[in-house]
Amino acid sequence: MDRYSIIQNKNQREIVLLKSFPCIWNRCSFCDYTLDNSDSEEEINRINYEVLKNITGKYRVLEVINSGSCFELPIGTLEKIRDIIRKKKIEKLFLESHWCYRNRLDEMRDFFKIPIIFKIGVETFDYNFRNNVLIKNAKFYRPEEVREYFDSPCLMVGIKGQTKEMIENDIETLLKYFSYGTINIFTPNSSKLERDDELVDWFKRKYSYLDDNPNIEILYNNTDFGVGD
Ligand code: SF4
Repeated sequence: MDRYSIIQNKNQREIVLLKSFPCIWNRCSFCDYTLDNSDSEEEINRINYEVLKNITGKYRVLEVINSGSCFELPIGTLEKIRDIIRKKKIEKLFLESHWCYRNRLDEMRDFFKIPIIFKIGVETFDYNFRNNVLIKNAKFYRPEEVREYFDSPCLMVGIKGQTKEMIENDIETLLKYFSYGTINIFTPNSSKLERDDELVDWFKRKYSYLDDNPNIEILYNNTDFGVGD
């Protein structure tokens, strides 16, 4: 499992994939990342401290992800990240959180005291597909509700059952309401959901121009940030 990488092409930054306590929701139908979660604070911190040693501060920007939300990182890990931010003069942090923690994001801002770009796994702005098929438990109706808390939605593209219209609306909404975004092309995993290759091919043809958008990152494979396995 690669847990440290440097993203060079857009929004240059270092990224770490840390270990964490179990995801609070843990029920999204497309997700098997939570296999990386652990109940052992000692194990989590031991692994994370090693990973965090890689950070050089090269770009003064750091992204921290885990298989869940940043609120599931133990305090020891959070304090270590804060030490590194100070020592390496990091000026901007990217963190990720589930919708259910939306009223707690300022806790992280107060703790780290540097600007934070908050990502959220929206997957789709289609309420029904998001909550009844992907079982995301993110029960908002309008993008403005998300924008009130978060800066950067992550979308999922290429799951059987999704439609072109849904994806067109998702991309349009992303570009209209948000300054940043990540689009994940679904990679088949141990979940029951299947990939729709025809939809993925169509997306690649129609939206290849997004490769030139500096604030939209497309992960054609889920390891494109250089972390994961
Ligand atoms: S919230 Fe994230 S980590 Fe948790 S089950 Fe859903 S996709 Fe997986």
